[in-house]
Amino acid sequence: MSAAEGQRGSSTVESAHPHHHAGFAQSRALRPSSKVLPEHARSHNRSLVLQTLYRTGRQSRADIARETGLTRVTVSDLVNDLISEHLVVEMGQREDARPGKPATILDIDRSAFQIIGIDLSEHSLFRGAVLDLDGQIIERAELPLAGSTGADAVAKVLELTGELLALTTAPVLGVGIGSPGVVDLDGVVLSAPNLGWHNLDLRSQIEARFGHPIIVANDANAAALAEHSFGGADGDLMIVKVGHGVGAGLLLGGSPLYGSRFAAGEIGHVVVGTDGGALCVCGKRGCLETWLSTPNLTLAIDQVRASGASQDEVDARTDLILVEAGQRLGIALAPIVGALNLPEVVLSGPTELLDGPLAQATIETLRSRTMAEFHGDLTLRMTTLGQNIVLRGAAVMVLSGQLGVS
Ligand SMILES: [Zn+2]
Repeated sequence: MSAAEGQRGSSTVESAHPHHHAGFAQSRALRPSSKVLPEHARSHNRSLVLQTLYRTGRQSRADIARETGLTRVTVSDLVNDLISEHLVVEMGQREDARPGKPATILDIDRSAFQIIGIDLSEHSLFRGAVLDLDGQIIERAELPLAGSTGADAVAKVLELTGELLALTTAPVLGVGIGSPGVVDLDGVVLSAPNLGWHNLDLRSQIEARFGHPIIVANDANAAALAEHSFGGADGDLMIVKVGHGVGAGLLLGGSPLYGSRFAAGEIGHVVVGTDGGALCVCGKRGCLETWLSTPNLTLAIDQVRASGASQDEVDARTDLILVEAGQRLGIALAPIVGALNLPEVVLSGPTELLDGPLAQATIETLRSRTMAEFHGDLTLRMTTLGQNIVLRGAAVMVLSGQLGVS
């Protein structure tokens, strides 16, 4: 196998920084931005083979060679290794009319390994699941947070991880965790105020206890990966996750965007407008969260309902609240959409609040504030992955980190 072969084709490059194995930076490293070094060519090619099988399924060695641009000898060699690792299985011979020896069909053994996904982003509970290699949820478990913060909250993550591992029925490929807050590429939670975590090396703590490969990333970044792998989104998108707070995850050219301090997408405490607004927990006025977070929206709507107004009046005022929130979101997103030329914005959060006047106002605001020539086909939609979005994104992190597929 030549080094040049490793540079052919493209879509996956293994990490050039093995000590960063936990980050999903290298995952699906998605579109290679630099040449593949010879010593990494083999793992790069291995990922190409796996990725081809993962996405297309059921292919012969010759199909894979054609698809990846690798030689048939290289493909056969890699496939033999993958079969001995139980990652790839032979599915029998193709029934076709082509002359010559019928080809043996291969596929990834999608039941050979399982993945643990954990979502720490909810206000009242930690949610987890056992998933198969296709990202389908096999088992679930959850743990009420009951106000835990700091070390108590870490103990709950450990407890939930142990519970989920006990539910697995196949070898575990890895554990993916979506955490709120700012998380670096080594799985250190730099800051997650709601959980009282600062510079918490969550990945190491969990790895020390359970030994499996552990990947910790920001919840919205995990959601963006899920939307890309399972939600039908292309490689350029922003997902806005509305819940206890407001955060966003960005994919550009198929790669997650982290920013200089790993806080890309942290738009919740960006002030929207110059007209003030409600006082935010961060001390500023008029942050996006004051307009849009689930608790703030719910509170505003509950106040209208408790006002004794007629039903028509309540409905009209509720719509106004949602429209204003949508407009503020549109104002906050327009420069981002414009600067990055994003084709798609996806919303994740309570459908009853987001999907209606709010989303409508957001897209109208975005259209009116960006250039139709470049952004006229911008779409804004709800995620189709519902509450499982972070769990499934956590699985994508493990898949891409461990196998180079997504
Ligand atoms: Zn704020």
